[in-house]
Amino acid sequence: MLSFAIGVDLGGTNLRIAAIEETGRPLETFNTSTEVKRGRDFVIDEMCRVIQVLSSKFSHTHQFLGTGVGIPGIIEMESGRLHSAANLPDWKDYPVKAEIEERLGSPVVLENDANCAALGEKWMGAGRDAAGLCMITLGTGVGGAFIFRGKIWHGMIGMAGEVGHMCVAAQGPACGCGGRGCLEQFASATAIRRMATEAIRSGNASGLANAIRNQELSAKVVFQQALLGDRVATQIFETAGVALGTALASLVNALNLPMYIIGGGVAKAWPAFSPAMYRELRKQSVVFRAGEDEHTHVNRTVITPAELGSEAGLIGAARLPMILKDSHHCSHIRVAAQIA
Ligand SMILES: [Zn+2]
Repeated sequence: MLSFAIGVDLGGTNLRIAAIEETGRPLETFNTSTEVKRGRDFVIDEMCRVIQVLSSKFSHTHQFLGTGVGIPGIIEMESGRLHSAANLPDWKDYPVKAEIEERLGSPVVLENDANCAALGEKWMGAGRDAAGLCMITLGTGVGGAFIFRGKIWHGMIGMAGEVGHMCVAAQGPACGCGGRGCLEQFASATAIRRMATEAIRSGNASGLANAIRNQELSAKVVFQQALLGDRVATQIFETAGVALGTALASLVNALNLPMYIIGGGVAKAWPAFSPAMYRELRKQSVVFRAGEDEHTHVNRTVITPAELGSEAGLIGAARLPMILKDSHHCSHIRVAAQIA
């Protein structure tokens, strides 16, 4: 009998839930416009209701392994409490794991959403064949995650992966984290919009100024203008690419992982920022250059766009109980071997 697990993607605005088979085949996806802003108790009730419907529906044909929940915040892995989450203020210090487990009577695994996305890409996306990877997510902010030997690297206090706050320009703009010139200040959707606003205000961006007469300024609009050949829009993505290449150079030099995946909404602008990104990476990283074949120029360090888009977090969340099952299985074998 094949097994399945349920993945939950708890976003700042939406709640998404899917039942996924151990083969990676989605059995059923539940998209809801559940307003997360209606509060914690409402969301927990709705989440548990859907999980129960899905788990009993497929339990006749599959073994149910449990539920993985991706949350945009810092999670205390041992206690299963949410330490803090910027977009979920009323969830602070809430014992999420214990509350959901009690209602469901089945195992629940919590994980940070950036880590879930990386796990999803590792399982079913761009990182399928990579022995280890780093994922950088370019969204409203810039997030990151590391997977070494199939496992998420959490770090000592569970905060590993804050690549958005790597300094790429010591004299750069101030960042909310207290630092200066963080990657997030150049390569996030927020930064792209900020740079475009500054250019429009300076009066040197007539193309962009015209483009936003009938629509709101967004990173997508700046990308569209770059595709049309607008000089200022092109320059903004060059700046983002240089920042990303600089951060990647440090990561490649320090970690020498086989794969770095770029995901998030801004990654759709790959054609606009990737030439500058590669140029800067090659210039700044001795480890990257060493991975290049001198005849074919193929590089063993792979930098690639994500493949699963906004599904990555949901798929990765469903993977969590499966990994737990595998690691339990391994530890049983180890114990058995010791006894023998
Ligand atoms: Zn920062």
